Amino acid sequence: KVLVGTKVDENHANWTTAYNMLTGIRVSVSRTNAKLDRPLTDADFEAKQKSTFDIAGNELVPSAKYDFKFKDYAPWVFRHLRALFRLDPADYLMSLTGKYILSELGSPGKSGSFFYFSRDYKYIIKTIHHGEHKFLRRILKDYYNHVADNPNTLLSQFYGLHRVKMPYGKKIHFVVMNNLFPPHRDIHQTFDLKGSTVGRDYREEDLENNPRATLKDLNWLRRKRHLELGLTKKQLFMEQLQRDVRLMQKLKIMDYSLLIGVHDLKKGNEENLRDKTLQVFNPGGREGPSDEADPNQILMRTPSKLESARKARELRQMIRAERPVPMGQTSNRMPEELEEGEEVYYLGVIDCLTHYGMIKKIEHFWKGLTSDRTQISALPPEEYGERFIKFMEGVTMSSEEAERDALDRENA
Ligand code: ATP
Ligand code: CA
Ligand code: CA
Repeated sequence: KVLVGTKVDENHANWTTAYNMLTGIRVSVSRTNAKLDRPLTDADFEAKQKSTFDIAGNELVPSAKYDFKFKDYAPWVFRHLRALFRLDPADYLMSLTGKYILSELGSPGKSGSFFYFSRDYKYIIKTIHHGEHKFLRRILKDYYNHVADNPNTLLSQFYGLHRVKMPYGKKIHFVVMNNLFPPHRDIHQTFDLKGSTVGRDYREEDLENNPRATLKDLNWLRRKRHLELGLTKKQLFMEQLQRDVRLMQKLKIMDYSLLIGVHDLKKGNEENLRDKTLQVFNPGGREGPSDEADPNQILMRTPSKLESARKARELRQMIRAERPVPMGQTSNRMPEELEEGEEVYYLGVIDCLTHYGMIKKIEHFWKGLTSDRTQISALPPEEYGERFIKFMEGVTMSSEEAERDALDRENA
């Protein structure tokens, strides 16, 4: 059965929650943005700002349709993060709250998180567990410094951390982050790779019914797939990935994956996809809308100041597959110039808020009794990171390299 993202309108069960989330974002983010910019202080990382919304409103909070409480965490830090990620403050609010339309992903994954896409598919709202919320606040300074030092980081870009609470309802924590995939291109194949092989398989038989399911490590290996990045981009990519993984090892994070979206230029975009919400997108074997965002892969710096902002952004976002190119030929060509049969990749590291201490120690123990210890996904963060990097070395090997590698090993 194919589930697709559903529009959250007034008839949707989660309409009130979505409405409150967006209202809270609109009011609190514009409140912070309205102030004169200033450098961050240590206190900004701990800050939280509470607003109480009701039908009447008051001098601080405009009236809203429903009663609810909203908390904005570290608003100044996220304002600065959005600037580091080069978001335009007005665009950000417009995408999320210009019209109150979100689309919700079919069904929540194992973790129980809900995913909502902004109307233009640039942003994702992900509800997170209290543990993840507390953890993000704890590591916020390290994350901030990492982003400041690594403008091309592949890690999820967090733009806001908030909480809504409805009368008699439970507290819902959520983050706003980038959608790695673009709104204007179909993603023909998606892989969620961890470098683990235990249980990391999407049933190939089910692909027929669900052609755009998110595939996993074993599906990747079975297809003998490779990201043909070319030497320069591969180096940039691997160096950045290593820096990102070092941070996660230091913060004892694990269970993250490299999300890869492949756009096949030969297939192009399907026609008549007027309603993007009907496009299959599918995290974790479930289906949703296709989406977009400011993918983080800022692997390439803006090549020329003369490029239009949009083109520059596209370039930064995209890692294009390369057919063997004559030496010296640039690979950063614009999409219009790409030959048929080529692929465009969108990549990033997602789900990076799982602290090893949370539950993983227990899982590790039990799974370790029955499986090869180095292959299960719940390894301690050091080993998880090493295995992740090693796997991604293989993922970014060109097919020729991979063949040579296999031959060498045979001959050894
Ligand atoms: P679990 O903990 O069971 O893995 P989760 O609820 O934490 O699930 P994620 O792993 O964060 O969910 O994401 C699930 C799927 O959602 C991914 O495999 C991917 O398909 C999609 N997804 C998540 N984040 C993004 C993103 N930033 N851009 C595009 N797609 C995303
Ligand atoms: Ca995950
Ligand atoms: Ca998770």
